[in-house]
Amino acid sequence: MSADPDCFAANEALELAAQLALEYRSGAAALDPGAAPRAEASGFDIPLPRRGREARKVIAALDAAARPGLTGSTKPGFMGWVIGGSHPAGIAADWLAATWGQNACLYDSSPAAAQAEAASAAWLLDVLDLPREASVGFTTGATMAAFTALAAARLAVLERAGHDFETKGLFGCPEVAIYISDDGHVTNYSVLRYLGFGDEQIRRIPSLADGTFDCTALEQAMRSDRVEARIVIAQAGQIMSGGFDDFTRVSALCREFGAWLHVDGAFGLWVRASRRLRHIAHNIDLADSWSVDGHKWLQIPYDCGFAIVRDQRCHRRAMAMQAGYLPDMRDTRNNADFVPELSRRARGFAVWAVMQSMGRLGIERMVEEHCNATHLLAQSLRHLPGVDVVNTVYLNQLAVAFTHEDADLTEMVASHLNATGRYFVRTADWRGRKLLRFSITCGATTDTFIRSLVGDVERFWLDLARRAA
Ligand SMILES: *Cc1c(COP(=O)(O)O)cnc(C)c1O
Repeated sequence: MSADPDCFAANEALELAAQLALEYRSGAAALDPGAAPRAEASGFDIPLPRRGREARKVIAALDAAARPGLTGSTKPGFMGWVIGGSHPAGIAADWLAATWGQNACLYDSSPAAAQAEAASAAWLLDVLDLPREASVGFTTGATMAAFTALAAARLAVLERAGHDFETKGLFGCPEVAIYISDDGHVTNYSVLRYLGFGDEQIRRIPSLADGTFDCTALEQAMRSDRVEARIVIAQAGQIMSGGFDDFTRVSALCREFGAWLHVDGAFGLWVRASRRLRHIAHNIDLADSWSVDGHKWLQIPYDCGFAIVRDQRCHRRAMAMQAGYLPDMRDTRNNADFVPELSRRARGFAVWAVMQSMGRLGIERMVEEHCNATHLLAQSLRHLPGVDVVNTVYLNQLAVAFTHEDADLTEMVASHLNATGRYFVRTADWRGRKLLRFSITCGATTDTFIRSLVGDVERFWLDLARRAA
């Protein structure tokens, strides 16, 4: 069939996609595509046809090609990385966002997309209990959220040091010192590079056992530096331990030295949604900016993150575009004023829909349940011989080593769990040790599921240790 104007009326393709989606979501797919042979040519590897094919057939072929290579990240047993489970309300909203084909850049290009972002931005600040006057940019994820927030930071600290960044750029600017834990998330180091900062400006501060700042070392570094402009990048939810910086101390140091405080809270910032657990992130609201993901703990479908900046004017100055044909809106929101891109997907619809669907209490309950589950798993593993629970459990991250008479069996436990098809876990090297990581972030994870996981891990381990003996 040739591509003709009818191809834009191919509603059968939409119906088929909905049907395939339902089937996938309710079906029991293997969680680990690593089980599929890698070398084999994939179903995608076919010639580009000269004439176009019927959209419905293409969608059927896409589904068939993709299935063997899909990671089960929407399933409760997926604990390999910090990845959310794509809430159904978000998926449905995303379908509509694509159906409506809105360009979310300006108020005029899609008033609905601007209104959805404005409304959900206010809810986000409320749930995270951050300064209500802060501005929120809807980014692809926490990496670009940090990029956005740190661009605002760069502008502000250079301006305070008497340098007009907008006119002069980075040329001849005063020295900027960036303080980050030596165990900070790698994406922050990339972001610093995109922003024009090199290794000599980055002070890698020694970290405590949980990867967060050794505040005494931070203070010493800040005292010994003779610079006019400083940025501190702190963590809420260190990727291995789930650890939090001491924001009371870190923010006091930032105040003393006139530093901008940014918080990488990609997943950990959501602890603020829990009245019972929010003390872990006490005084985090004293920072100047925060980056947090929507697609991890909040279960928004990929991709979605938030750049939150206390000084809204500074945020806009760092990101807004000026051109004759772009209207300058004062009282309505131009989404593009808060992110690097101009044209983009209307992410606000999915955020609005997921937050409405979960509600304040639903978000709070999910965060607490995932943290409880992690504690439960830690408690049950801790008393088993040969098992070393390495981190203090603050949140939803657990790092465990399994050894039997000097033999490191951690990797073996991981492959045993993955071979069941019910679980997906990964190992990582951290501080010279191989560790199995459990990241409990999938919205579909229930209490019952966790109890069976606990039982399975115990059984596997005791069985493995017995056979190794
Ligand atoms: C995932 C993660 C990031 C990066 O976020 P993306 O959404 O992948 O861009 C940054 N910091 C931490 C702590 C993370 O867990």
